[in-house]
Amino acid sequence: MALFDTLFDKRKSKGIHPPYYKIASHKNIEKAPLPKEATLPLSQHIGAPAKALVKRGDKVKTGQKIAEAGGFVSVPIHATISGKVKGIIQVVSSVTSRVGDAIVIESDGMDEWVELDKPENPEDLSKEDILSRIKEAGIVGLGGATFPTHVKLQPPPDKKIDTIIVNGCECEPYITSDHRLMLEHGDDILKGLGIMMRVIGCSRAYVAIEDNKPDAVETMRNLLAKAGLPGQVTVESLDTIYPLGAEKTLLKRILGREVPVAGLPFEVGVVVQNVSTLKAIHDAIYEGKPLIERVLTVSGLVKEPKNLIARFGTPAKELIEFCGGVPPEADEMIFGGPMMGISQTSLDIPTQKGTNSILVKKSDMKPEGNCIRCGACIEACPMNLVPTMFVAYVKNKMYEELGDYWIENCVECGACAYDCPANIPIVQYIKVGKAELMKLKKGAKK
Ligand code: SF4
Ligand code: SF4
Repeated sequence: MALFDTLFDKRKSKGIHPPYYKIASHKNIEKAPLPKEATLPLSQHIGAPAKALVKRGDKVKTGQKIAEAGGFVSVPIHATISGKVKGIIQVVSSVTSRVGDAIVIESDGMDEWVELDKPENPEDLSKEDILSRIKEAGIVGLGGATFPTHVKLQPPPDKKIDTIIVNGCECEPYITSDHRLMLEHGDDILKGLGIMMRVIGCSRAYVAIEDNKPDAVETMRNLLAKAGLPGQVTVESLDTIYPLGAEKTLLKRILGREVPVAGLPFEVGVVVQNVSTLKAIHDAIYEGKPLIERVLTVSGLVKEPKNLIARFGTPAKELIEFCGGVPPEADEMIFGGPMMGISQTSLDIPTQKGTNSILVKKSDMKPEGNCIRCGACIEACPMNLVPTMFVAYVKNKMYEELGDYWIENCVECGACAYDCPANIPIVQYIKVGKAELMKLKKGAKK
């Protein structure tokens, strides 16, 4: 009956309740030490990689543009420390596991900044100025998607945006960086929202926060009362359920609107923006600061879990050491959370724009069993999909049929795999299936 109800009530959230382990939620944001060497991949975002503007031996200052956007759907990269360019090397991406170019800067220990282009009257900037500054600051979606923000803020002219949703849900276990950001920089987040409302021309917004963060709900409500934002803005306290923070599930929960298969929120009149991205927009517009650092959580088996503001390009091991190191039984490091994060192969991997967390844990891989057709995966899926069919079709290489079951609507949240008693790594099958289906579609177009 519960499944039937959730399938037909558009605002009811399906999902799971994993243990949240928000063990760093009470820790104030601390500044991480500057890295001795920063490794900055040219592709830290969705879209074309940035193009290097520096070469080996060049001296750079903190905040200096060192790579320009490689196209409209692309953003520049800035030096995150001052020093000398050691070279351009090939690194494995912490997101895609593909090899790509990265600029390596050797620190001079000075952290000498470029002069920031801080506007005198940010409130008077035109829409075009704001968009150009957001692009030039290298801002991308910091909730993990890393989609260039200036593109997201320019939906097609025929799509009227009537609602902005500010995503402060942070539903992944362990991660507390957005929670702390709302508590410590909520006013900047709301200023960022004000800019976004102005650029999009939208007067209705929701700040969505799960109810396991009552202090953040209260803080944001108090700040909102004083912020004087034009239009109708409310802070929504939502039931805690994973994966409420996924854009499509959040939109469905708040507005009851469904994004079409393989579509984006603007198609139903909505733009969703994460709180960290709004803070970055604030910093770019009010302080002229490019995106060179972010708040991330280091948690799990580290001795002292922390929320750190860390420069991009810092090797993970330096941040883990700053958190007291790890016990010998720890054998896995993930960028992101335990549900959607990506296991890394080396502690030397540098953080980048999309790294909202470093999680150290003991690996819990279990042998894969056979599907017992229990339906737990179907009941868990927030997108009302049938994950067990994806597994069956991928195993049988029947990729075309995956489209009939709307595989492109899968947000890869892992709720299905979490509840699967047979320990089937369903998301891995889904990723393979999506890639194969895309190849087939591309082939059909040729
Ligand atoms: S099928 Fe996709 S959206 Fe549904 S639970 Fe599994 S990973 Fe999440
Ligand atoms: S939860 Fe696992 S075992 Fe149960 S139906 Fe889904 S894939 Fe099969």
